[in-house]
Amino acid sequence: MNEKSSDVLITGSGIIGMAALMILEKHAIKTSLLSLSKISKNKTPDPRFYAISPGVKKWLEENGVFNFISQESVTPINKIVVYSNQENTSLTFDAYDAGINELACIINHDDLEKAFINRISKITYHEIKTDNIESFKVEMDHINLVDAKGNKYQFKLVIGADGSNSWVRSQATIEVKNKKFNQTALVFNIKSSKAHQGCAYQKFMCDGILALLPIHTHDFSVVYSLNDNILDNYRSLDDEIFLLKLKKDLGEMFGDINLLTKREYYPLSMKINESLISDRVILIGDAAHQLHPLAGQGLNLGFRDVIEFDELLVSHKKYHHDLGLKQFLKKYNRHRKPDILSLSYLTDHLSRLFSTQSYFVDFLMNFGLNKINQNHLIKKILIEKAVR
Ligand SMILES: Cc1cc2nc3c(=O)[nH]c(=O)nc-3n(C[C@H](O)[C@H](O)[C@H](O)COP(=O)(O)OP(=O)(O)OC[C@H]3O[C@@H](n4cnc5c(N)ncnc54)[C@H](O)[C@@H]3O)c2cc1C
Repeated sequence: MNEKSSDVLITGSGIIGMAALMILEKHAIKTSLLSLSKISKNKTPDPRFYAISPGVKKWLEENGVFNFISQESVTPINKIVVYSNQENTSLTFDAYDAGINELACIINHDDLEKAFINRISKITYHEIKTDNIESFKVEMDHINLVDAKGNKYQFKLVIGADGSNSWVRSQATIEVKNKKFNQTALVFNIKSSKAHQGCAYQKFMCDGILALLPIHTHDFSVVYSLNDNILDNYRSLDDEIFLLKLKKDLGEMFGDINLLTKREYYPLSMKINESLISDRVILIGDAAHQLHPLAGQGLNLGFRDVIEFDELLVSHKKYHHDLGLKQFLKKYNRHRKPDILSLSYLTDHLSRLFSTQSYFVDFLMNFGLNKINQNHLIKKILIEKAVR
């Protein structure tokens, strides 16, 4: 190995890539982090707010990430109300009834990213900044990499944390199924005349799904996943008319509302990888899975990939000398697949079910929501799954 080489290369310095770096450093594993040089300048604010599950929050606290996040920028959710397209049908999840402190907490993307940048600022790793890798070659006991400047590197393991269009995944020839939802998420913030009191809302409608995450006392981050066939009806509207349409879609319960930000657009699709591993390669975060944001679980799933990796490093110290060994990678693949597949298919089915314009399906869904709402045991089981 030359001096530029490390045991592990993480490709992608997003939130999940930085989380993996933090873990590898904790286990004293020599790591390099590869990021694109062109993205670091002129970055516009990311409007997304994430619902972070209590299990993931606890892990972030234990690993010192929350030390870099101010209390004011974290909003706990203590209640979630889900509506169907019939106003009188709803399902309520309550943290108090479930005997827990909160169902999730809301954090803005940029606040979380900044916390990770601070958290990793003190740790030692080798930074590679390049927009072009000339060659990626898997050998028997390492991977050879050559960048655009001709610099050569060797790694025992390459971790792909480079997002949903992962370059690492294509180099490792891992097959991926891509399903377009024919929906686009509109993301923006609103102010309501009524205080939210820590309640999040989700409304399933024929033309899309409205999710409202509580942020400041009267403000919500809205994710409106709209079917593409009606997207243009919304996109072309100026703010005033858009607000009138939104008020109609939301109904009366939010009182008077105002738009606080411009609308950002995210086309939605689901990606399922045939495998999470290949020779001396593993995938984590959106590189390993991409799903519908309706359950607010994409980033949580990515954190759980890193948590699993952390646990494997604790319980399998014998592999620390060579983390690219197949036996080790296979454990990661086997442990992570059930969580990833079940959530991907669940969110896919839910998005399809609620957008079905059939009287029969509609009737069953509304009936089902009311029945679940009356059944405390089912609600408790659903909450237990969501708070991991
Ligand atoms: C509208 C919307 C709402 C959402 N809400 C939630 C929510 O409430 N809760 C939740 O858990 N999740 C949510 N998600 C999902 C969440 O945003 C993603 O799962 C998460 O951002 C993925 O993080 P990541 O670090 O894996 O990938 P990314 O954020 O995509 O980061 C990938 C990184 O890799 C870099 N990169 C790309 N290509 C290369 C390359 N060739 N070489 C080097 N680097 C490269 C990129 O520049 C980037 O820095 C939402 C998603 C959307 C669209």
